[in-house]
Amino acid sequence: MKIQILTIFPEVCRAVLGESILKRAQEKQLVELEACDLRDWTTDKHRSTDDAPYGGGPGMVMTIGPIDRALSALRKPGSKVIFLSPQGRRFSHKIAQELALESHLIFLCGHYEGVDQRVSDHLIDDEISIGDYVLTSGVLPALVVTDALVRLIPGVLGDVQSAEQDSFVAGRLDHPHYTRPEVYQGWEVPRVLLSGNHAAIEGWRREEAKKATLLKRPDLPQME
Ligand code: SAM
Repeated sequence: MKIQILTIFPEVCRAVLGESILKRAQEKQLVELEACDLRDWTTDKHRSTDDAPYGGGPGMVMTIGPIDRALSALRKPGSKVIFLSPQGRRFSHKIAQELALESHLIFLCGHYEGVDQRVSDHLIDDEISIGDYVLTSGVLPALVVTDALVRLIPGVLGDVQSAEQDSFVAGRLDHPHYTRPEVYQGWEVPRVLLSGNHAAIEGWRREEAKKATLLKRPDLPQME
């Protein structure tokens, strides 16, 4: 799978894509991640990607020209172009699973007041929002979506089980986790986790996941 992030802030992407699990996933050749600088497709000496809005009003709007040229160069048969936008469908674990099956994703990041509407109307395949709030640019949303879906690619996480028990995977929240020390400032690790009784530990985790879901996210489908 290949993911390209088209942005005017490629260095922000490179910093994140070059660390930790995303870095290792690339080293293991499970995914190819690339930050593409939209300014490489500008034609003026200032390498501008924005202009004043028609009709007046505050702020600047990203122009269609560099975006169109960039997408024409990057898009291949089977590519999916996704515009990160607060007006898109709301990102979720289900959408991450859907995107993890694609072979080539291009994430288009907006900035300023947004992007010329003709980009959404004619040049993209999907529009995704990471939540009902507005950020200054699409680069963080693109990285959020990239991180969430790359960890679903088989082989990316060392232990398959760790992804299976994560929140939302089975329609419920994860169970609590503890590590050493056994007691910290008088706060003890639940005894059952130290018992070595795997069936009891499994049962406790299941119950705790159920309780957490009921308490924090009663809107999620509840477990049996
Ligand atoms: N004026 C636009 C609106 O209200 O719909 C918001 C523009 S926002 C300041 C600039 C860019 O940040 C957007 O084009 C988009 O790429 C990105 N962005 C901001 N919030 C986002 C969100 N919740 N999800 C995904 N992308 C977002």
